Amino acid sequence: MTAINEGIDLTVEDGVAVITLDFPPVNAMGPAMLDGLYDALMGALADPEAKCIVLICAGRTFIAGADLKSLGKVAPKVDFFELQDAVENSSKPTIAALHGTPLGGGLETALTLHYRIATPSTRMGLPEVKLGLLPGGGGTQRLPRITGAAHALDLLLTGRQVPAPEALEIGLIDRISASEESLRADAIAFARELVAEGKPPKRVRDREDKIEADRADPGLMERLREQWAGSLKLEAAQAIYRCVQAAVKGPFEAGVAVERAEFLPLPSSAQSLALRHMFMAEREAAKIPGLPKDTALKPVAKVAVIGGGTMGSGIATAFLDAGFPVTMVETTQEALDRGAASTKGVFTSRAARGKLTQEKADARIAALSTTLDLSAVADADLVVEAVFEDMEVKKDLFARLSQVVRPDAILASNTSTLDIDQIATAAAHPERVLGLHFFSPAHVMRLLEVVRGAKTDHATLATAMNLAKKLGKIAVVSGVCYGFIGNRMLAVRRDQTNALLAEGVSPWDIDEALVDYGFPMGQFQMLDMAGLDVVKTDSDVVRTALVAAGRKGQKTGKGYYDYSQGRHGNPDPATLDIITQATGVKSGSKTLSTPEIIERLLFPMINEGAKIVEEGIAYRASDIDVVWVYGYGWPAYKGGPMFYADHVGLSTVVEALRAIPGVTVAPLLEKLAAEGGKFNA
Ligand code: NAD
Repeated sequence: MTAINEGIDLTVEDGVAVITLDFPPVNAMGPAMLDGLYDALMGALADPEAKCIVLICAGRTFIAGADLKSLGKVAPKVDFFELQDAVENSSKPTIAALHGTPLGGGLETALTLHYRIATPSTRMGLPEVKLGLLPGGGGTQRLPRITGAAHALDLLLTGRQVPAPEALEIGLIDRISASEESLRADAIAFARELVAEGKPPKRVRDREDKIEADRADPGLMERLREQWAGSLKLEAAQAIYRCVQAAVKGPFEAGVAVERAEFLPLPSSAQSLALRHMFMAEREAAKIPGLPKDTALKPVAKVAVIGGGTMGSGIATAFLDAGFPVTMVETTQEALDRGAASTKGVFTSRAARGKLTQEKADARIAALSTTLDLSAVADADLVVEAVFEDMEVKKDLFARLSQVVRPDAILASNTSTLDIDQIATAAAHPERVLGLHFFSPAHVMRLLEVVRGAKTDHATLATAMNLAKKLGKIAVVSGVCYGFIGNRMLAVRRDQTNALLAEGVSPWDIDEALVDYGFPMGQFQMLDMAGLDVVKTDSDVVRTALVAAGRKGQKTGKGYYDYSQGRHGNPDPATLDIITQATGVKSGSKTLSTPEIIERLLFPMINEGAKIVEEGIAYRASDIDVVWVYGYGWPAYKGGPMFYADHVGLSTVVEALRAIPGVTVAPLLEKLAAEGGKFNA
């Protein structure tokens, strides 16, 4: 074995050169790796014994991206592109042996080798789009050449990780090793086969079969543009589309030139900065200041869910999905049957659509037990309550639960707005009470607000954060206040939309501004979906009037909008009449520009966010961004409310807030604006 460089070995075995990279923990690409790989390649090419070259990595994974820390600090002898050319132009056939998660630059490197073999569990992808970037190492050009444009766009625009069997199917790899352990041996055997059969180096850039077929289909790129219209709102996605278009058009060199030109502006674009902020914010949110590192987690094996309504059935589904057995408790057989049917329905429908095997669907359904008897939760490690939003009902339940559960069980409430500390007074062990605020649908939405009560202990909090991970959720800790982080800020937006209605702005203009900004739907479309009678509406004169007129939202065919023509809903002049009557101001008589509406709705939310940070309800401003992006559809490419405020400039925000009636600027916001500071410094 020849040690080429620290972390790089070259061996020649029976005519096959094996280059092994060993840069723990994830074989990230840095200058030392680039140089060493180049030297090893030259060594293998110069060795007459070596007829074929295998590139493999030690440790957890094949190259999983770039070593960001060393980027730009030390210049390698050969840059990334020169190395790529050298590898791709190798006169001897080359094989990339993949395992773990070859992502980004790792997969792009694998695409410069002539053949690819992967272990059965390998997951590979080009996730750059998630950070508002594109794979700038030839990925947008080589990928379409081996998978065709349709698969390439799917991978490039979703950034998803493709499992090895799918990668084989779409042509991204040539074979899968017999087992996880046999990769090296199977790669060497593959190499010997190539040599025995006299197979030449096969550069991906020269592959024409799939791209030829794409070229012969003149409507293809237009169809793909329509198929991906939703994703193509993002600048990076548009750039990727143009790169793939260039790949289809050919030739390779022209496509690479397009890719480099399209890449250049992206790293400093506002969208990429926002997406990178979200990437970091999500990781930060998991950190709990003051939580001792050695806090022991409480074992959670069995879960009980009280209430089988909208939330209870969704929460049960979420836990069953994560492999927990769940007991659902209701007060009437009818409600219990409805709740269980709703939970089971998710699994049967997934099985019917081929999204889940029948076997797994059956196992999840079998893990759900239902009862009307509260004492059946006696062996649960965690009880999640999702009963009516009523303090007395919840306190009564927590008192009764305390009589039946084990003394060390965790009791959680899914309340949207109520005071967790007050609920905890009814429990025998308030230190093991907290809020687990799921979002609807609970088995789909990624956000989980973990509400720490004044008495919640470290172990309970740490266990909840760990559970969130097991559920595949992104958890954000919130202190106790009305509505916690998310609903407290939503209430501020709701007040502003109502104020705008009362001034004569039409609901359609308000919703359109929010959708223009990037929200999936407007405030009134959201209310129509949830049902106008779900939350008390006393202080909301328009909503009260609509409900009184029988317009309760989508479920009654009419709410703010008219749904008689379909689910999207049409603006309805009758709504404007009802608003005019309720507010005394002619609805639609005032027109504001989209930016004016956005300032009016979003700046007061930012102000509330500042108060939330100031009061210590959120540990950090970026936690608020995570709540709004993952729980309320704030566009990730705008980075959430607090990042957006930093982007706009805090003094601009303060100035605009001063002009909004009834708003008092938060001292923290005022201070940061005066200092020229930022929330996310
Ligand atoms: P829901 O009315 O759909 O369901 C509540 C269920 O609880 C009903 O089926 C009822 O029979 C049952 N129930 C009432 N008292 C009970 C008791 N003592 N024991 C057992 N079951 C009992 O309501 P929902 O929308 O599921 O909301 C439940 C909770 O979740 C509320 O606190 C709500 O604020 C909160 N929440 C709701 C949403 C949402 O979007 N709907 C989102 C987050 C949180």
